[in-house]
Parts: sequence; structure tokens; C-alpha cells
Amino acid sequence: MSVVDDATIKLGYDSHDRLSAYDNLVYPVVSRRSRGLSLGINLNPDKRCNFDCVYCQVERPQPSAIIRPDIDQLESELRHWLGRLREGDYRGYLLKDIALAGDGEPTSEKQLPQVLELLLTLKEEYQLPESVKLILFTNGSGMDRKDLQAIYPRFFEAAGEVWFKLDYWDQQSLVEINRTNLKFDSLISKLQRFGNKYPVVLQSCFFQWKGQRFAVELYQPYIELVKTLISEGLQIQKIQAYTLARKPAEMDAHPWPDADMDELAEQLRQQCALSVELFYEKGAE
Ligand code: SF4
Repeated sequence: MSVVDDATIKLGYDSHDRLSAYDNLVYPVVSRRSRGLSLGINLNPDKRCNFDCVYCQVERPQPSAIIRPDIDQLESELRHWLGRLREGDYRGYLLKDIALAGDGEPTSEKQLPQVLELLLTLKEEYQLPESVKLILFTNGSGMDRKDLQAIYPRFFEAAGEVWFKLDYWDQQSLVEINRTNLKFDSLISKLQRFGNKYPVVLQSCFFQWKGQRFAVELYQPYIELVKTLISEGLQIQKIQAYTLARKPAEMDAHPWPDADMDELAEQLRQQCALSVELFYEKGAE
């Protein structure tokens, strides 16, 4: 297994190639949310996910040769990139984070505890500064796994962050937006059990879909849910509110206009006293 050559790698806010077509598990990406270079780890090269979000931007028709991630391969690819970045920037970008994201739900991968241990080890060994975060993207479905509980305190000590998906506010919106068999009550309970103990960054995607069904004026129930979660002890570091910036799974889903993003953010700030980061269709706030 070799890391793909530079000529193959496209870097840019509109390009999030996972490199899984080249059987690579680690991919450099310039991310709006990271505000710089992120080393992404794709723990789901088989592109399976227990959600099927309307707005998902994973290109699933492309097959990957790797079905399961291999820890040795992952370590060797991470060492390659961290070795290069020891010298400084990569194409003008400084490393901002190492992110477990990829083409599916990281917490559905059995080897996640070993992967997190590897990240903690490498962060120390390569003396990555505090400012380089470790980020676990999740839809929350596996955050309650028993084999992860002992790692979380060390993960947060090493500038770890958990970016938790919350696009829905009830069972119906969960089914419509995220199209999963998992239950609203179960997912919210997992979010609360985790987020009442550790800080979470909520990630919420807003978009037009089914005419006016998901218009900004209908989002008060989402705001009410966030208020309730806060009142019951959820530690929300901030909300990252974003809209579509790349091709979504459903072609008739469209980005919210900037004005709608601004309006929702204002309501969240006023009603929930939260920090809200906005990611418009083109560029970040
Ligand atoms: S949880 Fe993520 S990977 Fe899974 S369908 Fe939704 S956006 Fe795509």
C-alpha cells in the first residue's frame, strides 16, 4: 500500500476527495470548518452508513477495494503525512486537525478504540501542538459503546473534540432528513449521556427540500429541542450551522440562502445564548 502522489490530490474547499479510490485511508483536505488543513481518516471505505442523509455528500457509486480499515496501513499513512508536516505547511496550509470523518459513521467501526489510541500516541510522539485538534465526527449512534468509555477522558485531554450531528428535532424529521431506522429517543438519549459529561460541538445541516417543508420559519421546534437539551445539562461548545456546499445525495435538495442561515443563527444566539458558527453555500462567516 502506498500513499498517492501529490498530483492526484486536489486541495480546495469544493473538493473533499477521500482517496479511497486509491485504497488510502488518510486524506488531506482543506476544510471550511477546520479553517485550514485537516488530515481526514476514512474508517468506512466500504461507504456504508446507518444514516442515509438527504444532504450526504459522499459519492457512493465509486467502489473501494478496501472493505475494512487496516490499523497498520492507517498508522503508516498517518506517519507519512505527519512526517511531511513536520517540515511545515502542505501547499501553503498548516495542519489544523486530524479528523475521523470519511464515508460513513466512525463509531460503527469495531476498531475505533485502537484508532483513537493510535491518534493519542502519534499526537504525543510527533509533538503536535495543543492547537492541532483530534476530531471525531459522529451521528451519535455508537457513542455509548462500552469499549470507548475509558478513552474519552484522554481524548479530551489531548484537545479532542466530538462533532455531533443534530439536524432533526423529532422522529418524523429524523426519518425525513437522515433516513435512518434508529429512533429519535435513542439518539437523543445517547447525545445527552455523552454531552452531559463532555462538551460537544453540534453540527446541523440546513437545506431546502420538499418545497417549504424545511423552510427557516419552521425551525422553532429544533431551537426548542436545543433549549431543552441545554436545560437538562447538555454542554454545547458551539453549533456549527451549515448548508450544502457540494453535490448532495438528493439533487432536489438545495442550499439555504445566506439570509435564512443568518436568521436561524440569530434566533439560536438569542434564544439559546450559544456560539453559532455559520457555513454558507459559498465560504464561511
Ligand atoms: S451520517 Fe454522514 S456519512 Fe452517513 S449518510 Fe449522513 S452525512 Fe452521509
